[in-house]
Amino acid sequence: MADKKELEQITNCAMCANMCKYSCPTYLATGKETITPQKIARLILYEEKAFIDDKQGFFDVMFQSAMCGACKVHCVYDNYDLRKFIQRGRSKAFKEGMLPDETRKRIETFMRFGNPYGERQLLQKGTGDLGYFVSCSAYNDQQLLKAMDRIISVSKEQVHEFGGADICCGAPLYYAGDTEGFKRAAGKMKGEIDKRKLRRVIADCPNCMKMMTEVYHEVGVDLDVEFVHTTEFLNALLKEGKIKVDRANTTATFHDPCILANDIGVTTDPREVLRVLGFEIREPVYSREDTHCCGGLCGARIGDCRLTDKVSSMRIGELKETAADVYVSACPTCKAVLSDVDMKDITELVAEQIINE
Ligand code: SF4
Ligand code: SF4
Repeated sequence: MADKKELEQITNCAMCANMCKYSCPTYLATGKETITPQKIARLILYEEKAFIDDKQGFFDVMFQSAMCGACKVHCVYDNYDLRKFIQRGRSKAFKEGMLPDETRKRIETFMRFGNPYGERQLLQKGTGDLGYFVSCSAYNDQQLLKAMDRIISVSKEQVHEFGGADICCGAPLYYAGDTEGFKRAAGKMKGEIDKRKLRRVIADCPNCMKMMTEVYHEVGVDLDVEFVHTTEFLNALLKEGKIKVDRANTTATFHDPCILANDIGVTTDPREVLRVLGFEIREPVYSREDTHCCGGLCGARIGDCRLTDKVSSMRIGELKETAADVYVSACPTCKAVLSDVDMKDITELVAEQIINE
């Protein structure tokens, strides 16, 4: 542990009543008591005190958290985030070469191509100091990219779009515990932003936004730009009258991406956009800061894939209970993982309903 305060924090967590487990999607989806926040904290404390013989077992548990932040939101202590300690466990696994197979493969792809998916074209168009960073998940989603292009063109905003090739925020490296690799990726992203002289950047992926606004700082990389999430950008365009939309007059359920709700704190903008689009919003039982991870967050996806399937099946069930006409989210990964409910990105809904040309 770095200091006495951290030792006290993890000890408190290890001895806690563990009520936050009822917000933990991996526990709720699997019923596995061993991966609840308090049990994870206890393992971390035992590892700190060198009580753990089964290193592989310890590291496996570190990769079974979705890193969604629900335990932070529902914690009985202020300013405590168990993920900081889980992340250190992952870094140890990386250093000792004991990553889960799936994680290792993704990291190897990243080392070769500078992104988690493989060889890609550079995506670059437009000019100006307002950037749009196309996340790696959005790069694979042509419908989402076309929708964003349409909105940019109709609104007449000057937007400098960039992404693809080896431009990635580095989140896969971070969640794999490769701190040095992540630091290099953060430095590269800073170079990409600086050379384009951007002042503000739109992020379509909440996780990229978290990396660039919060986690880069922890590794000593500070970006001199303001970030806005797509939902904030769309809401502003509608409020300023730069785009006009038709009303749908039907029902929609919004799935709050966990990082957008738990870390970025954006839950109102998407709902305001949906209301302007004429949707009656049907909230799932778990929404806003009570949302459940889709299962696709880097934390789970590059760890234990069986866990991803269980968490996503649970979330799909919760969403279907609303029986809405449309299911919508604001993260390209959530859209891909929750495709069983015909999930759309909110950007697509806005583009479909634009009426000013
Ligand atoms: S995360 Fe917070 S509420 Fe949950 S077990 Fe740890 S200390 Fe208790
Ligand atoms: S970050 Fe999410 S998945 Fe991990 S222990 Fe906390 S609530 Fe559970």
